[in-house]
Amino acid sequence: MKKRYIALLLAIYAVTLYFIVLTGVNNLADRLRSTDEEGADNKYTANGIYSNQLINNYDIYVDFDPIKKMYNSKQTIIYVNNTDTTLNEIYLHIYPNAFKSEATTPYIIDDYGTPYVHGFSKGDFQIYKLLVNEENTAYNIDKNNVTILHIKLKQPIKPKENIKIYMEYGGVLPRAQQRFGYGKDTYNFGNWYPIVAVYDDTGWNLDPYYKLGDPFYSDIGNYHVTIAAPKDMIIAASGNIISEKIENNKKIWKIEAMLMRDFAWTASKEFIKLEKEIDGILVKGYFIRNDQKVNTDALKAACDAIKVFNRVFGKYPYEQYSVIASNHIGGMEYPGLVFVNEKFYNNQLLERLKKVIVHETAHQWWYSAVGNNEVDEPWLDEGLTTYSEYIFFKEAYGKKYGENYFKKYIYNSYNMRKNQLNDEVIAKSLDKFKNNSEYHAVAYKKAAMFFYEIEKKYGERKMYNILRNYYMNYKFKNANTYQFLKICEEVTNDNFDHLANKWLYQK
Ligand SMILES: [Zn+2]
Repeated sequence: MKKRYIALLLAIYAVTLYFIVLTGVNNLADRLRSTDEEGADNKYTANGIYSNQLINNYDIYVDFDPIKKMYNSKQTIIYVNNTDTTLNEIYLHIYPNAFKSEATTPYIIDDYGTPYVHGFSKGDFQIYKLLVNEENTAYNIDKNNVTILHIKLKQPIKPKENIKIYMEYGGVLPRAQQRFGYGKDTYNFGNWYPIVAVYDDTGWNLDPYYKLGDPFYSDIGNYHVTIAAPKDMIIAASGNIISEKIENNKKIWKIEAMLMRDFAWTASKEFIKLEKEIDGILVKGYFIRNDQKVNTDALKAACDAIKVFNRVFGKYPYEQYSVIASNHIGGMEYPGLVFVNEKFYNNQLLERLKKVIVHETAHQWWYSAVGNNEVDEPWLDEGLTTYSEYIFFKEAYGKKYGENYFKKYIYNSYNMRKNQLNDEVIAKSLDKFKNNSEYHAVAYKKAAMFFYEIEKKYGERKMYNILRNYYMNYKFKNANTYQFLKICEEVTNDNFDHLANKWLYQK
């Protein structure tokens, strides 16, 4: 039995290799497609994506100078028109362009908890070259929406066709403890490169870089990133680190991040790394302080969360997962990588640290694998992720612990702020929330209470089936409220109009 299985695997491997050599271009997509169809290689199962379409490819070379806080990149995007419309233009988000002025920065400047702990700090972003299919092409950036780059195409792209966009650009990190910025110990590269906007049923999604929430929406792509940095830097990144080597006094890191909807990385001289394998996934903790107990507990929380969510939702779809102690104001999720405020890595704050790690880890299912428009429907991933915290504590520490957790961190937390809310509609876009407090009370806590109500009404088994089906159907895709509710109706065999109206749309 075993021998036959190995022979079959070898045969599949040989056939795949033959096709890779034969096809050359797009060979990776073909390899993925063939493994997906054969079902031989579960780790790259692309949920049907490769059987009917190719996906965007990002090839980025970035050189980082920590002294000047500056980076320079050469980037090639192969953009595939997976819409059924011929596209005459294309739009990219250039998020780092927001950091040039106080007027456009998405970070709050004066408030308590500002990432600009030393006052406003100017970042920079410049485009040096832009070619479309090897030709110099004009582009423009809207003065009123500075993170959107518009390219009018000389040749339209028909459905299923692709184009090649080549860019050279550079930027400077602001001194800000956030997604894109630096602090005492870490240089954070979140939302740092030009990424193609999503074209969906509503057309191009060209939202600005809002101050509230995580205002992102992207398609799955494949990333091949090379990072050149001084030898003493340690890099943590989305995806798999393929190699590290010294070249001309610099360290060159090659990273592959397949089927991911974004790519983030961090550099630090201080990182201490701990690793553990769980369910075949390499979980990596990057720490700044050398506190053995706290670091071990933090890594354990990440591993436990992966284990529980693998079992309840379906398996984490990548090979590696990194939890990074970072000069970052709170927690922030990216595919395969999360930032966690390094100040939380403290024995006195252990409960908070675990809570943040569990939350950000749950985002690997809700936001990263199953994507959604976080500008139009932020509740969908934040609500599910907050509800998943409760699932984690219930599954890991028992029913009573879970119920107490729900009461303390979700139900009470919402009720404490209830009087200050003027609009309790959950299913609304980021710009409709009054402030951060309302956003957290409604899109996180109240939304989690909606999922909790489904569980109480239909039972835990059905609720878990809903989540599994949602994950299975929309892994590597983007989902919306309607699609989530449709799965609820299919699993429960009930009409959800009343429940959805009561919870999601009532003021
Ligand atoms: Zn979140």
